[in-house]
Amino acid sequence: MQITVLAGGVGGARFLQGVRRFATSDGRADEVTAIVNTGDDVTMHGLRICPDLDSVMYTLAGAVDVERGWGRAGETWRIKDELAEYGAEPTWFGLGDLDIATHLVRTQMLENGYPLSDVTAALCQRWQTGIRLLPMSDDRCETHVVIEQDGKRRAIHFQEWWVRYRAGIPALAFVQVGLDTASPAAGVLDAISGADLILVSPSNPVVSINTILNVPGMREALRSASAPIVGLSPIIGNAPVRGMADACLPVLGVETSAAGVGGFYGARSADGILDGWLIHPGDTAELDGIAVRARDLLMSSDQVTAGMVRDAAALVGIAGATGSAQRDAT
Ligand code: GDP
Ligand code: CA
Repeated sequence: MQITVLAGGVGGARFLQGVRRFATSDGRADEVTAIVNTGDDVTMHGLRICPDLDSVMYTLAGAVDVERGWGRAGETWRIKDELAEYGAEPTWFGLGDLDIATHLVRTQMLENGYPLSDVTAALCQRWQTGIRLLPMSDDRCETHVVIEQDGKRRAIHFQEWWVRYRAGIPALAFVQVGLDTASPAAGVLDAISGADLILVSPSNPVVSINTILNVPGMREALRSASAPIVGLSPIIGNAPVRGMADACLPVLGVETSAAGVGGFYGARSADGILDGWLIHPGDTAELDGIAVRARDLLMSSDQVTAGMVRDAAALVGIAGATGSAQRDAT
């Protein structure tokens, strides 16, 4: 089976660990492709940084700092301290010494003309991720946040809003700069049309998943895919499990709930992208045209998360993936 997954950073990375576990369990040999958000990408100190791709790559490689959820385990910060001594801005972004090596290789390859999809494949050669990682686009398409400060409206880069201000300044809108001329990265459309199962990670619905969906051609490709599409709610009990997704959803007028996010993605039978939607026990979502099941959605281990994938497949009747969702449904 070919499984294609839409993913953000930390939530996407943890989910992909479970997908990889599922894909190799019970004698399966599924091929997994992840289409990863690059709306968070940014250039700092001359380095091209792809936070979500790196979170996924380091996590799948077992090289991530598990506590932080991003960056390298055993990281040191000598270069960051040295940059601060020079007064080099910005100083609020965590650039670790080991991580900088990744950014140097990436930046150099990009400057030599390789598209980000090739660069990502080259970086993954070292890490043996077991999952093919594709950026959503090879084109720059960076999310900016419209805010109001001192009575003036301005747009700041998503990273500045998220990391520097901890999403503490009310967002008026999210804007993807470069969207008009962006297209899905090499391999993305084939990964969607050739899939047997498409999964939407429990990632930030606004600045991870919707950012991917907004790439011109992406939504149409998903809507016309022959594979069923199942999403997993990142919202449990009306709150994000980790992170600050609750600062993003209201900006698009979406309620912070499993039902709100499911409705936001919408049914493929209407004008959305979902055929199935997994929610956590205790949450409710009645969504026309979407098969909804409740099952534990706390990604406490790869094995537990692999069970979510099994249930997602079973929800849309994929043979060989007998799930427990039905049994667990509340
Ligand atoms: P980011 O790019 O690093 O912000 O990561 P993502 O966009 O991939 O994922 C962030 C989302 O993951 C947050 O909205 C969390 O609610 C969600 N999340 C994190 N851990 C879990 C979990 O164990 N279960 C579920 N259902 N969602 C989770
Ligand atoms: Ca992210």
